[in-house]
Formats: sequence, C-alpha cells, structure tokens
Amino acid sequence: MIYCAKSDRGKLRSNNEDTFYAPESKEEPLFFMVADGMGGHKAGEVASRLAVEEISSYIKAKFDAPSFRDDMTALIREAFLVANEKIYKNSLESDKLAGMGTTATLALFKDGMLYIGHVGDSRAYLLREGSLKQLTKDHSLVWQLMEEGRLTAEEMRYHPMRNVITRALGAYENVIVDVSTHEYMKGDIFLLCSDGLTNMLEDEKIKEIILKSGSIETAADGLVQAANDRGGYDNITVVLILVE
Ligand code: CA
Repeated sequence: MIYCAKSDRGKLRSNNEDTFYAPESKEEPLFFMVADGMGGHKAGEVASRLAVEEISSYIKAKFDAPSFRDDMTALIREAFLVANEKIYKNSLESDKLAGMGTTATLALFKDGMLYIGHVGDSRAYLLREGSLKQLTKDHSLVWQLMEEGRLTAEEMRYHPMRNVITRALGAYENVIVDVSTHEYMKGDIFLLCSDGLTNMLEDEKIKEIILKSGSIETAADGLVQAANDRGGYDNITVVLILVE
C-alpha cells in the first residue's frame, strides 16, 4: 500500500477540528482513520483527537488478541464503543466539552480483506477502473432525505441542514457502529475524507482530480486545493490509499 494523508484548516475556520490517523511504520497494523469533531470552543478538536487516540490504541493493543484476531468486525466495533464511552464521559465532566461528538471512519486491511468502521458523515470511497463509489452511508438528515427520494445528491451538498448528523461518537451513552467488509485488488484507490471535501466537491470532480494526478501525494494536494478554491468553508481532510 502507498498512502498519503492531508488535513487543512480551510479558508474560513480558525481551527481544525478534523483528525486523521495513518500507520507510522510497516510493523503496525494497517488501518487509517478520519474523524471530524463538533462542539463549542475547542470541544470538536478534543472529540476527534480522542476518537483517533482511543480507537487506534485499542486496535493496536488487541490486534493479535485471541478473542479478536479472527474477527476484525468485532474488534472495530469494540474500539468504537470504547472511544464512544471515553468521549461521552469527558463531555459530562467539563462544561466546555458538554455536547461534543465526532464522526469516525476507519479502513483496516487484513488478510486480503478491507474492513470499514463508520459513524457520522465522513466518507469512504473506492476508485476502481475509472469509477468512484461511496462505500459508506452518511448518518445525516440530508442523506435520509436523499434515500427517501426527497433530495438529489447535488441538492444534499447545498442544503441548509447538511451539517445535521444523526449519529456521532461520544454524543450519547450508546452508538450504533456500521462495519462493512470489502474485497480489494491491485490498483484500487481508497479515499477517506471529511465533509469539508465532499460539501465543496461533487464525486465527479473528486474522481477527475485523482485520475489526472500522477501520484497519491499529488492527488491529496489537488483535492485539498480544489476544496479551498471552491471556498474552503470547512476543515478538509483526505486519506488516500493505493493498493500496489
Ligand atoms: Ca466538517
């Protein structure tokens, strides 16, 4: 795998509430994450950082544990639940952190399979043979309206309530975690991203930028640049993974 992760504050926000994770060495379990926090003051930053810290350390600690090593789905679900509890408890202990929460989208590669863990409206995409497919469903109000046929994908991106999410890590005592499994092949490119990318760029534009880029790194830079060129209304985070 070749991968590249970028996070940018965008053009309007004074801080960056997104956090990402990518392995630092080849010895580590192969997984990636994007988290997009919400809450007043600095609470959004705290929530997304806690999600990445808790989930990544739990997965690393239990990756080879007998109870989980043959069941990555259970491992991911448990890691998300541990993070949910941690964020929720922190939010109850401080007025400044009250009501904080975060999205979390994780991609874990093991034994030829890809496992995606997901809560919120960050996204995972697969670019294969020239076509881009979203692998996650947004847990958001506008996504529900789109599934009911009341909004088009394009209208979703401009809807005044596009930021209302229906599931978040740490917002409540309990959370339902989506985990899906996928096969992957040589040449596949996976993208994890926050809504600061997808609210600025339609899928067609995202695909075009990745396809015309000579490398994963150029593609990541190109995506962030294009979202900023369209206004950069929100923090922009992208993780790109190419299967060699
Ligand atoms: Ca965001």
